[in-house]
Amino acid sequence: MPLKEMLQRLVKVGPGPKTFLSIYLDLSPDGSGKKRHAVFLKSRLSELAKNPSVHSRDQTLLARDLRRVQKYLEEDLDPAWRGIALFTCPSEDLFLAVPMSQPPANSLALSVHPHLFSLTRQAELYQTYGILVADSRQARLFLVHEGRPEKQTSLFWEDKHTTRFGRMGLSFQKFQRHQQEHIKQRAKEAVENMGKWSVRREIKYLFLAPEEEMEAEIKKQLPSALKKKQVLLTSLDPRDPDHKIFSAAQKALQTLSRERSEALARQIMDEAQPLGRATVGPEPTLSALQNYQVERLVLDAKFHASGWRCLHCGYPGMGGVPRSCPLCQGGTEPAELREEIAWKAQSSGVEIFFTDNFTPLMKAGGIGSLLKFKITGKTSRSSGV
Ligand SMILES: [Zn+2]
Repeated sequence: MPLKEMLQRLVKVGPGPKTFLSIYLDLSPDGSGKKRHAVFLKSRLSELAKNPSVHSRDQTLLARDLRRVQKYLEEDLDPAWRGIALFTCPSEDLFLAVPMSQPPANSLALSVHPHLFSLTRQAELYQTYGILVADSRQARLFLVHEGRPEKQTSLFWEDKHTTRFGRMGLSFQKFQRHQQEHIKQRAKEAVENMGKWSVRREIKYLFLAPEEEMEAEIKKQLPSALKKKQVLLTSLDPRDPDHKIFSAAQKALQTLSRERSEALARQIMDEAQPLGRATVGPEPTLSALQNYQVERLVLDAKFHASGWRCLHCGYPGMGGVPRSCPLCQGGTEPAELREEIAWKAQSSGVEIFFTDNFTPLMKAGGIGSLLKFKITGKTSRSSGV
């Protein structure tokens, strides 16, 4: 199931108080090759079994889900995954496992909403992209979809006459023309292969790591739809191993996403004048989010604040837990604000753009939003102009 659908599924659970178990595990081994997640899980699970807030019926269901989690971790883990997110909702018979290509921080939470922050933070890595790595002798092509290589192929070209028989008696110019023709044909072949994949899957980016002599020809051969999506991976050597290529592409995806988020954060801060089309800081942004006024949300990965949520209307607030909700007088409970924000945004269809310790945004509270319309106190006199 694609990430978008899984997230939809997680926020579309029917009404009524539910208990969600959200588990994030860092699957990367430590220096000695041991997997640290097992130790983490063991200690947290025994704490969980003693949790008095879980009702006895739920306790039985929870125990069943925990066995399911254990079984999944023993039998279904792919060694290629660097992390995993597991969600269960015992009363709904919901069990979802999402492989992650970057290790998350280990965490386990039992709460009224699934904890989606760490997963949405990596959402850009689930986009579909192509990678084309080539020198004049061989090319490797990959199509990465939902975080894993869905298709890959290698092309090999032989150059017998240049390796063993010199220039085959050709003049230098003729030989060069001959070589240039080879390069053109090879670039064409590689691009055509990528083109076939891109017909079936919409590619968001095409990462290129060509050897210098192939670069111009590959770029020339790209159809216009792919030309717009090309991103050069300059740090790679075309002979680098696959894993190095994947991690360079992931790094580039994260950089692109961070740059886009920083641009949005700047725009928000420019527009966040009184009566403007944006909010900056937790209080006004939470209130806009609660009122469905947010078009785009920018959140810094380092944003971490405690607050509270209303058990009745779901309103999230900053700071100390009030005795009752100021909006509906409902009961309240402490909450981790970034989780409330991630859940609220996801359930109201608002995309979150993540910056990573972006100083201007952090100084402004670590969060901001672009609104669907201006919030005005009174009717604007300039309307209709
Ligand atoms: Zn309320």
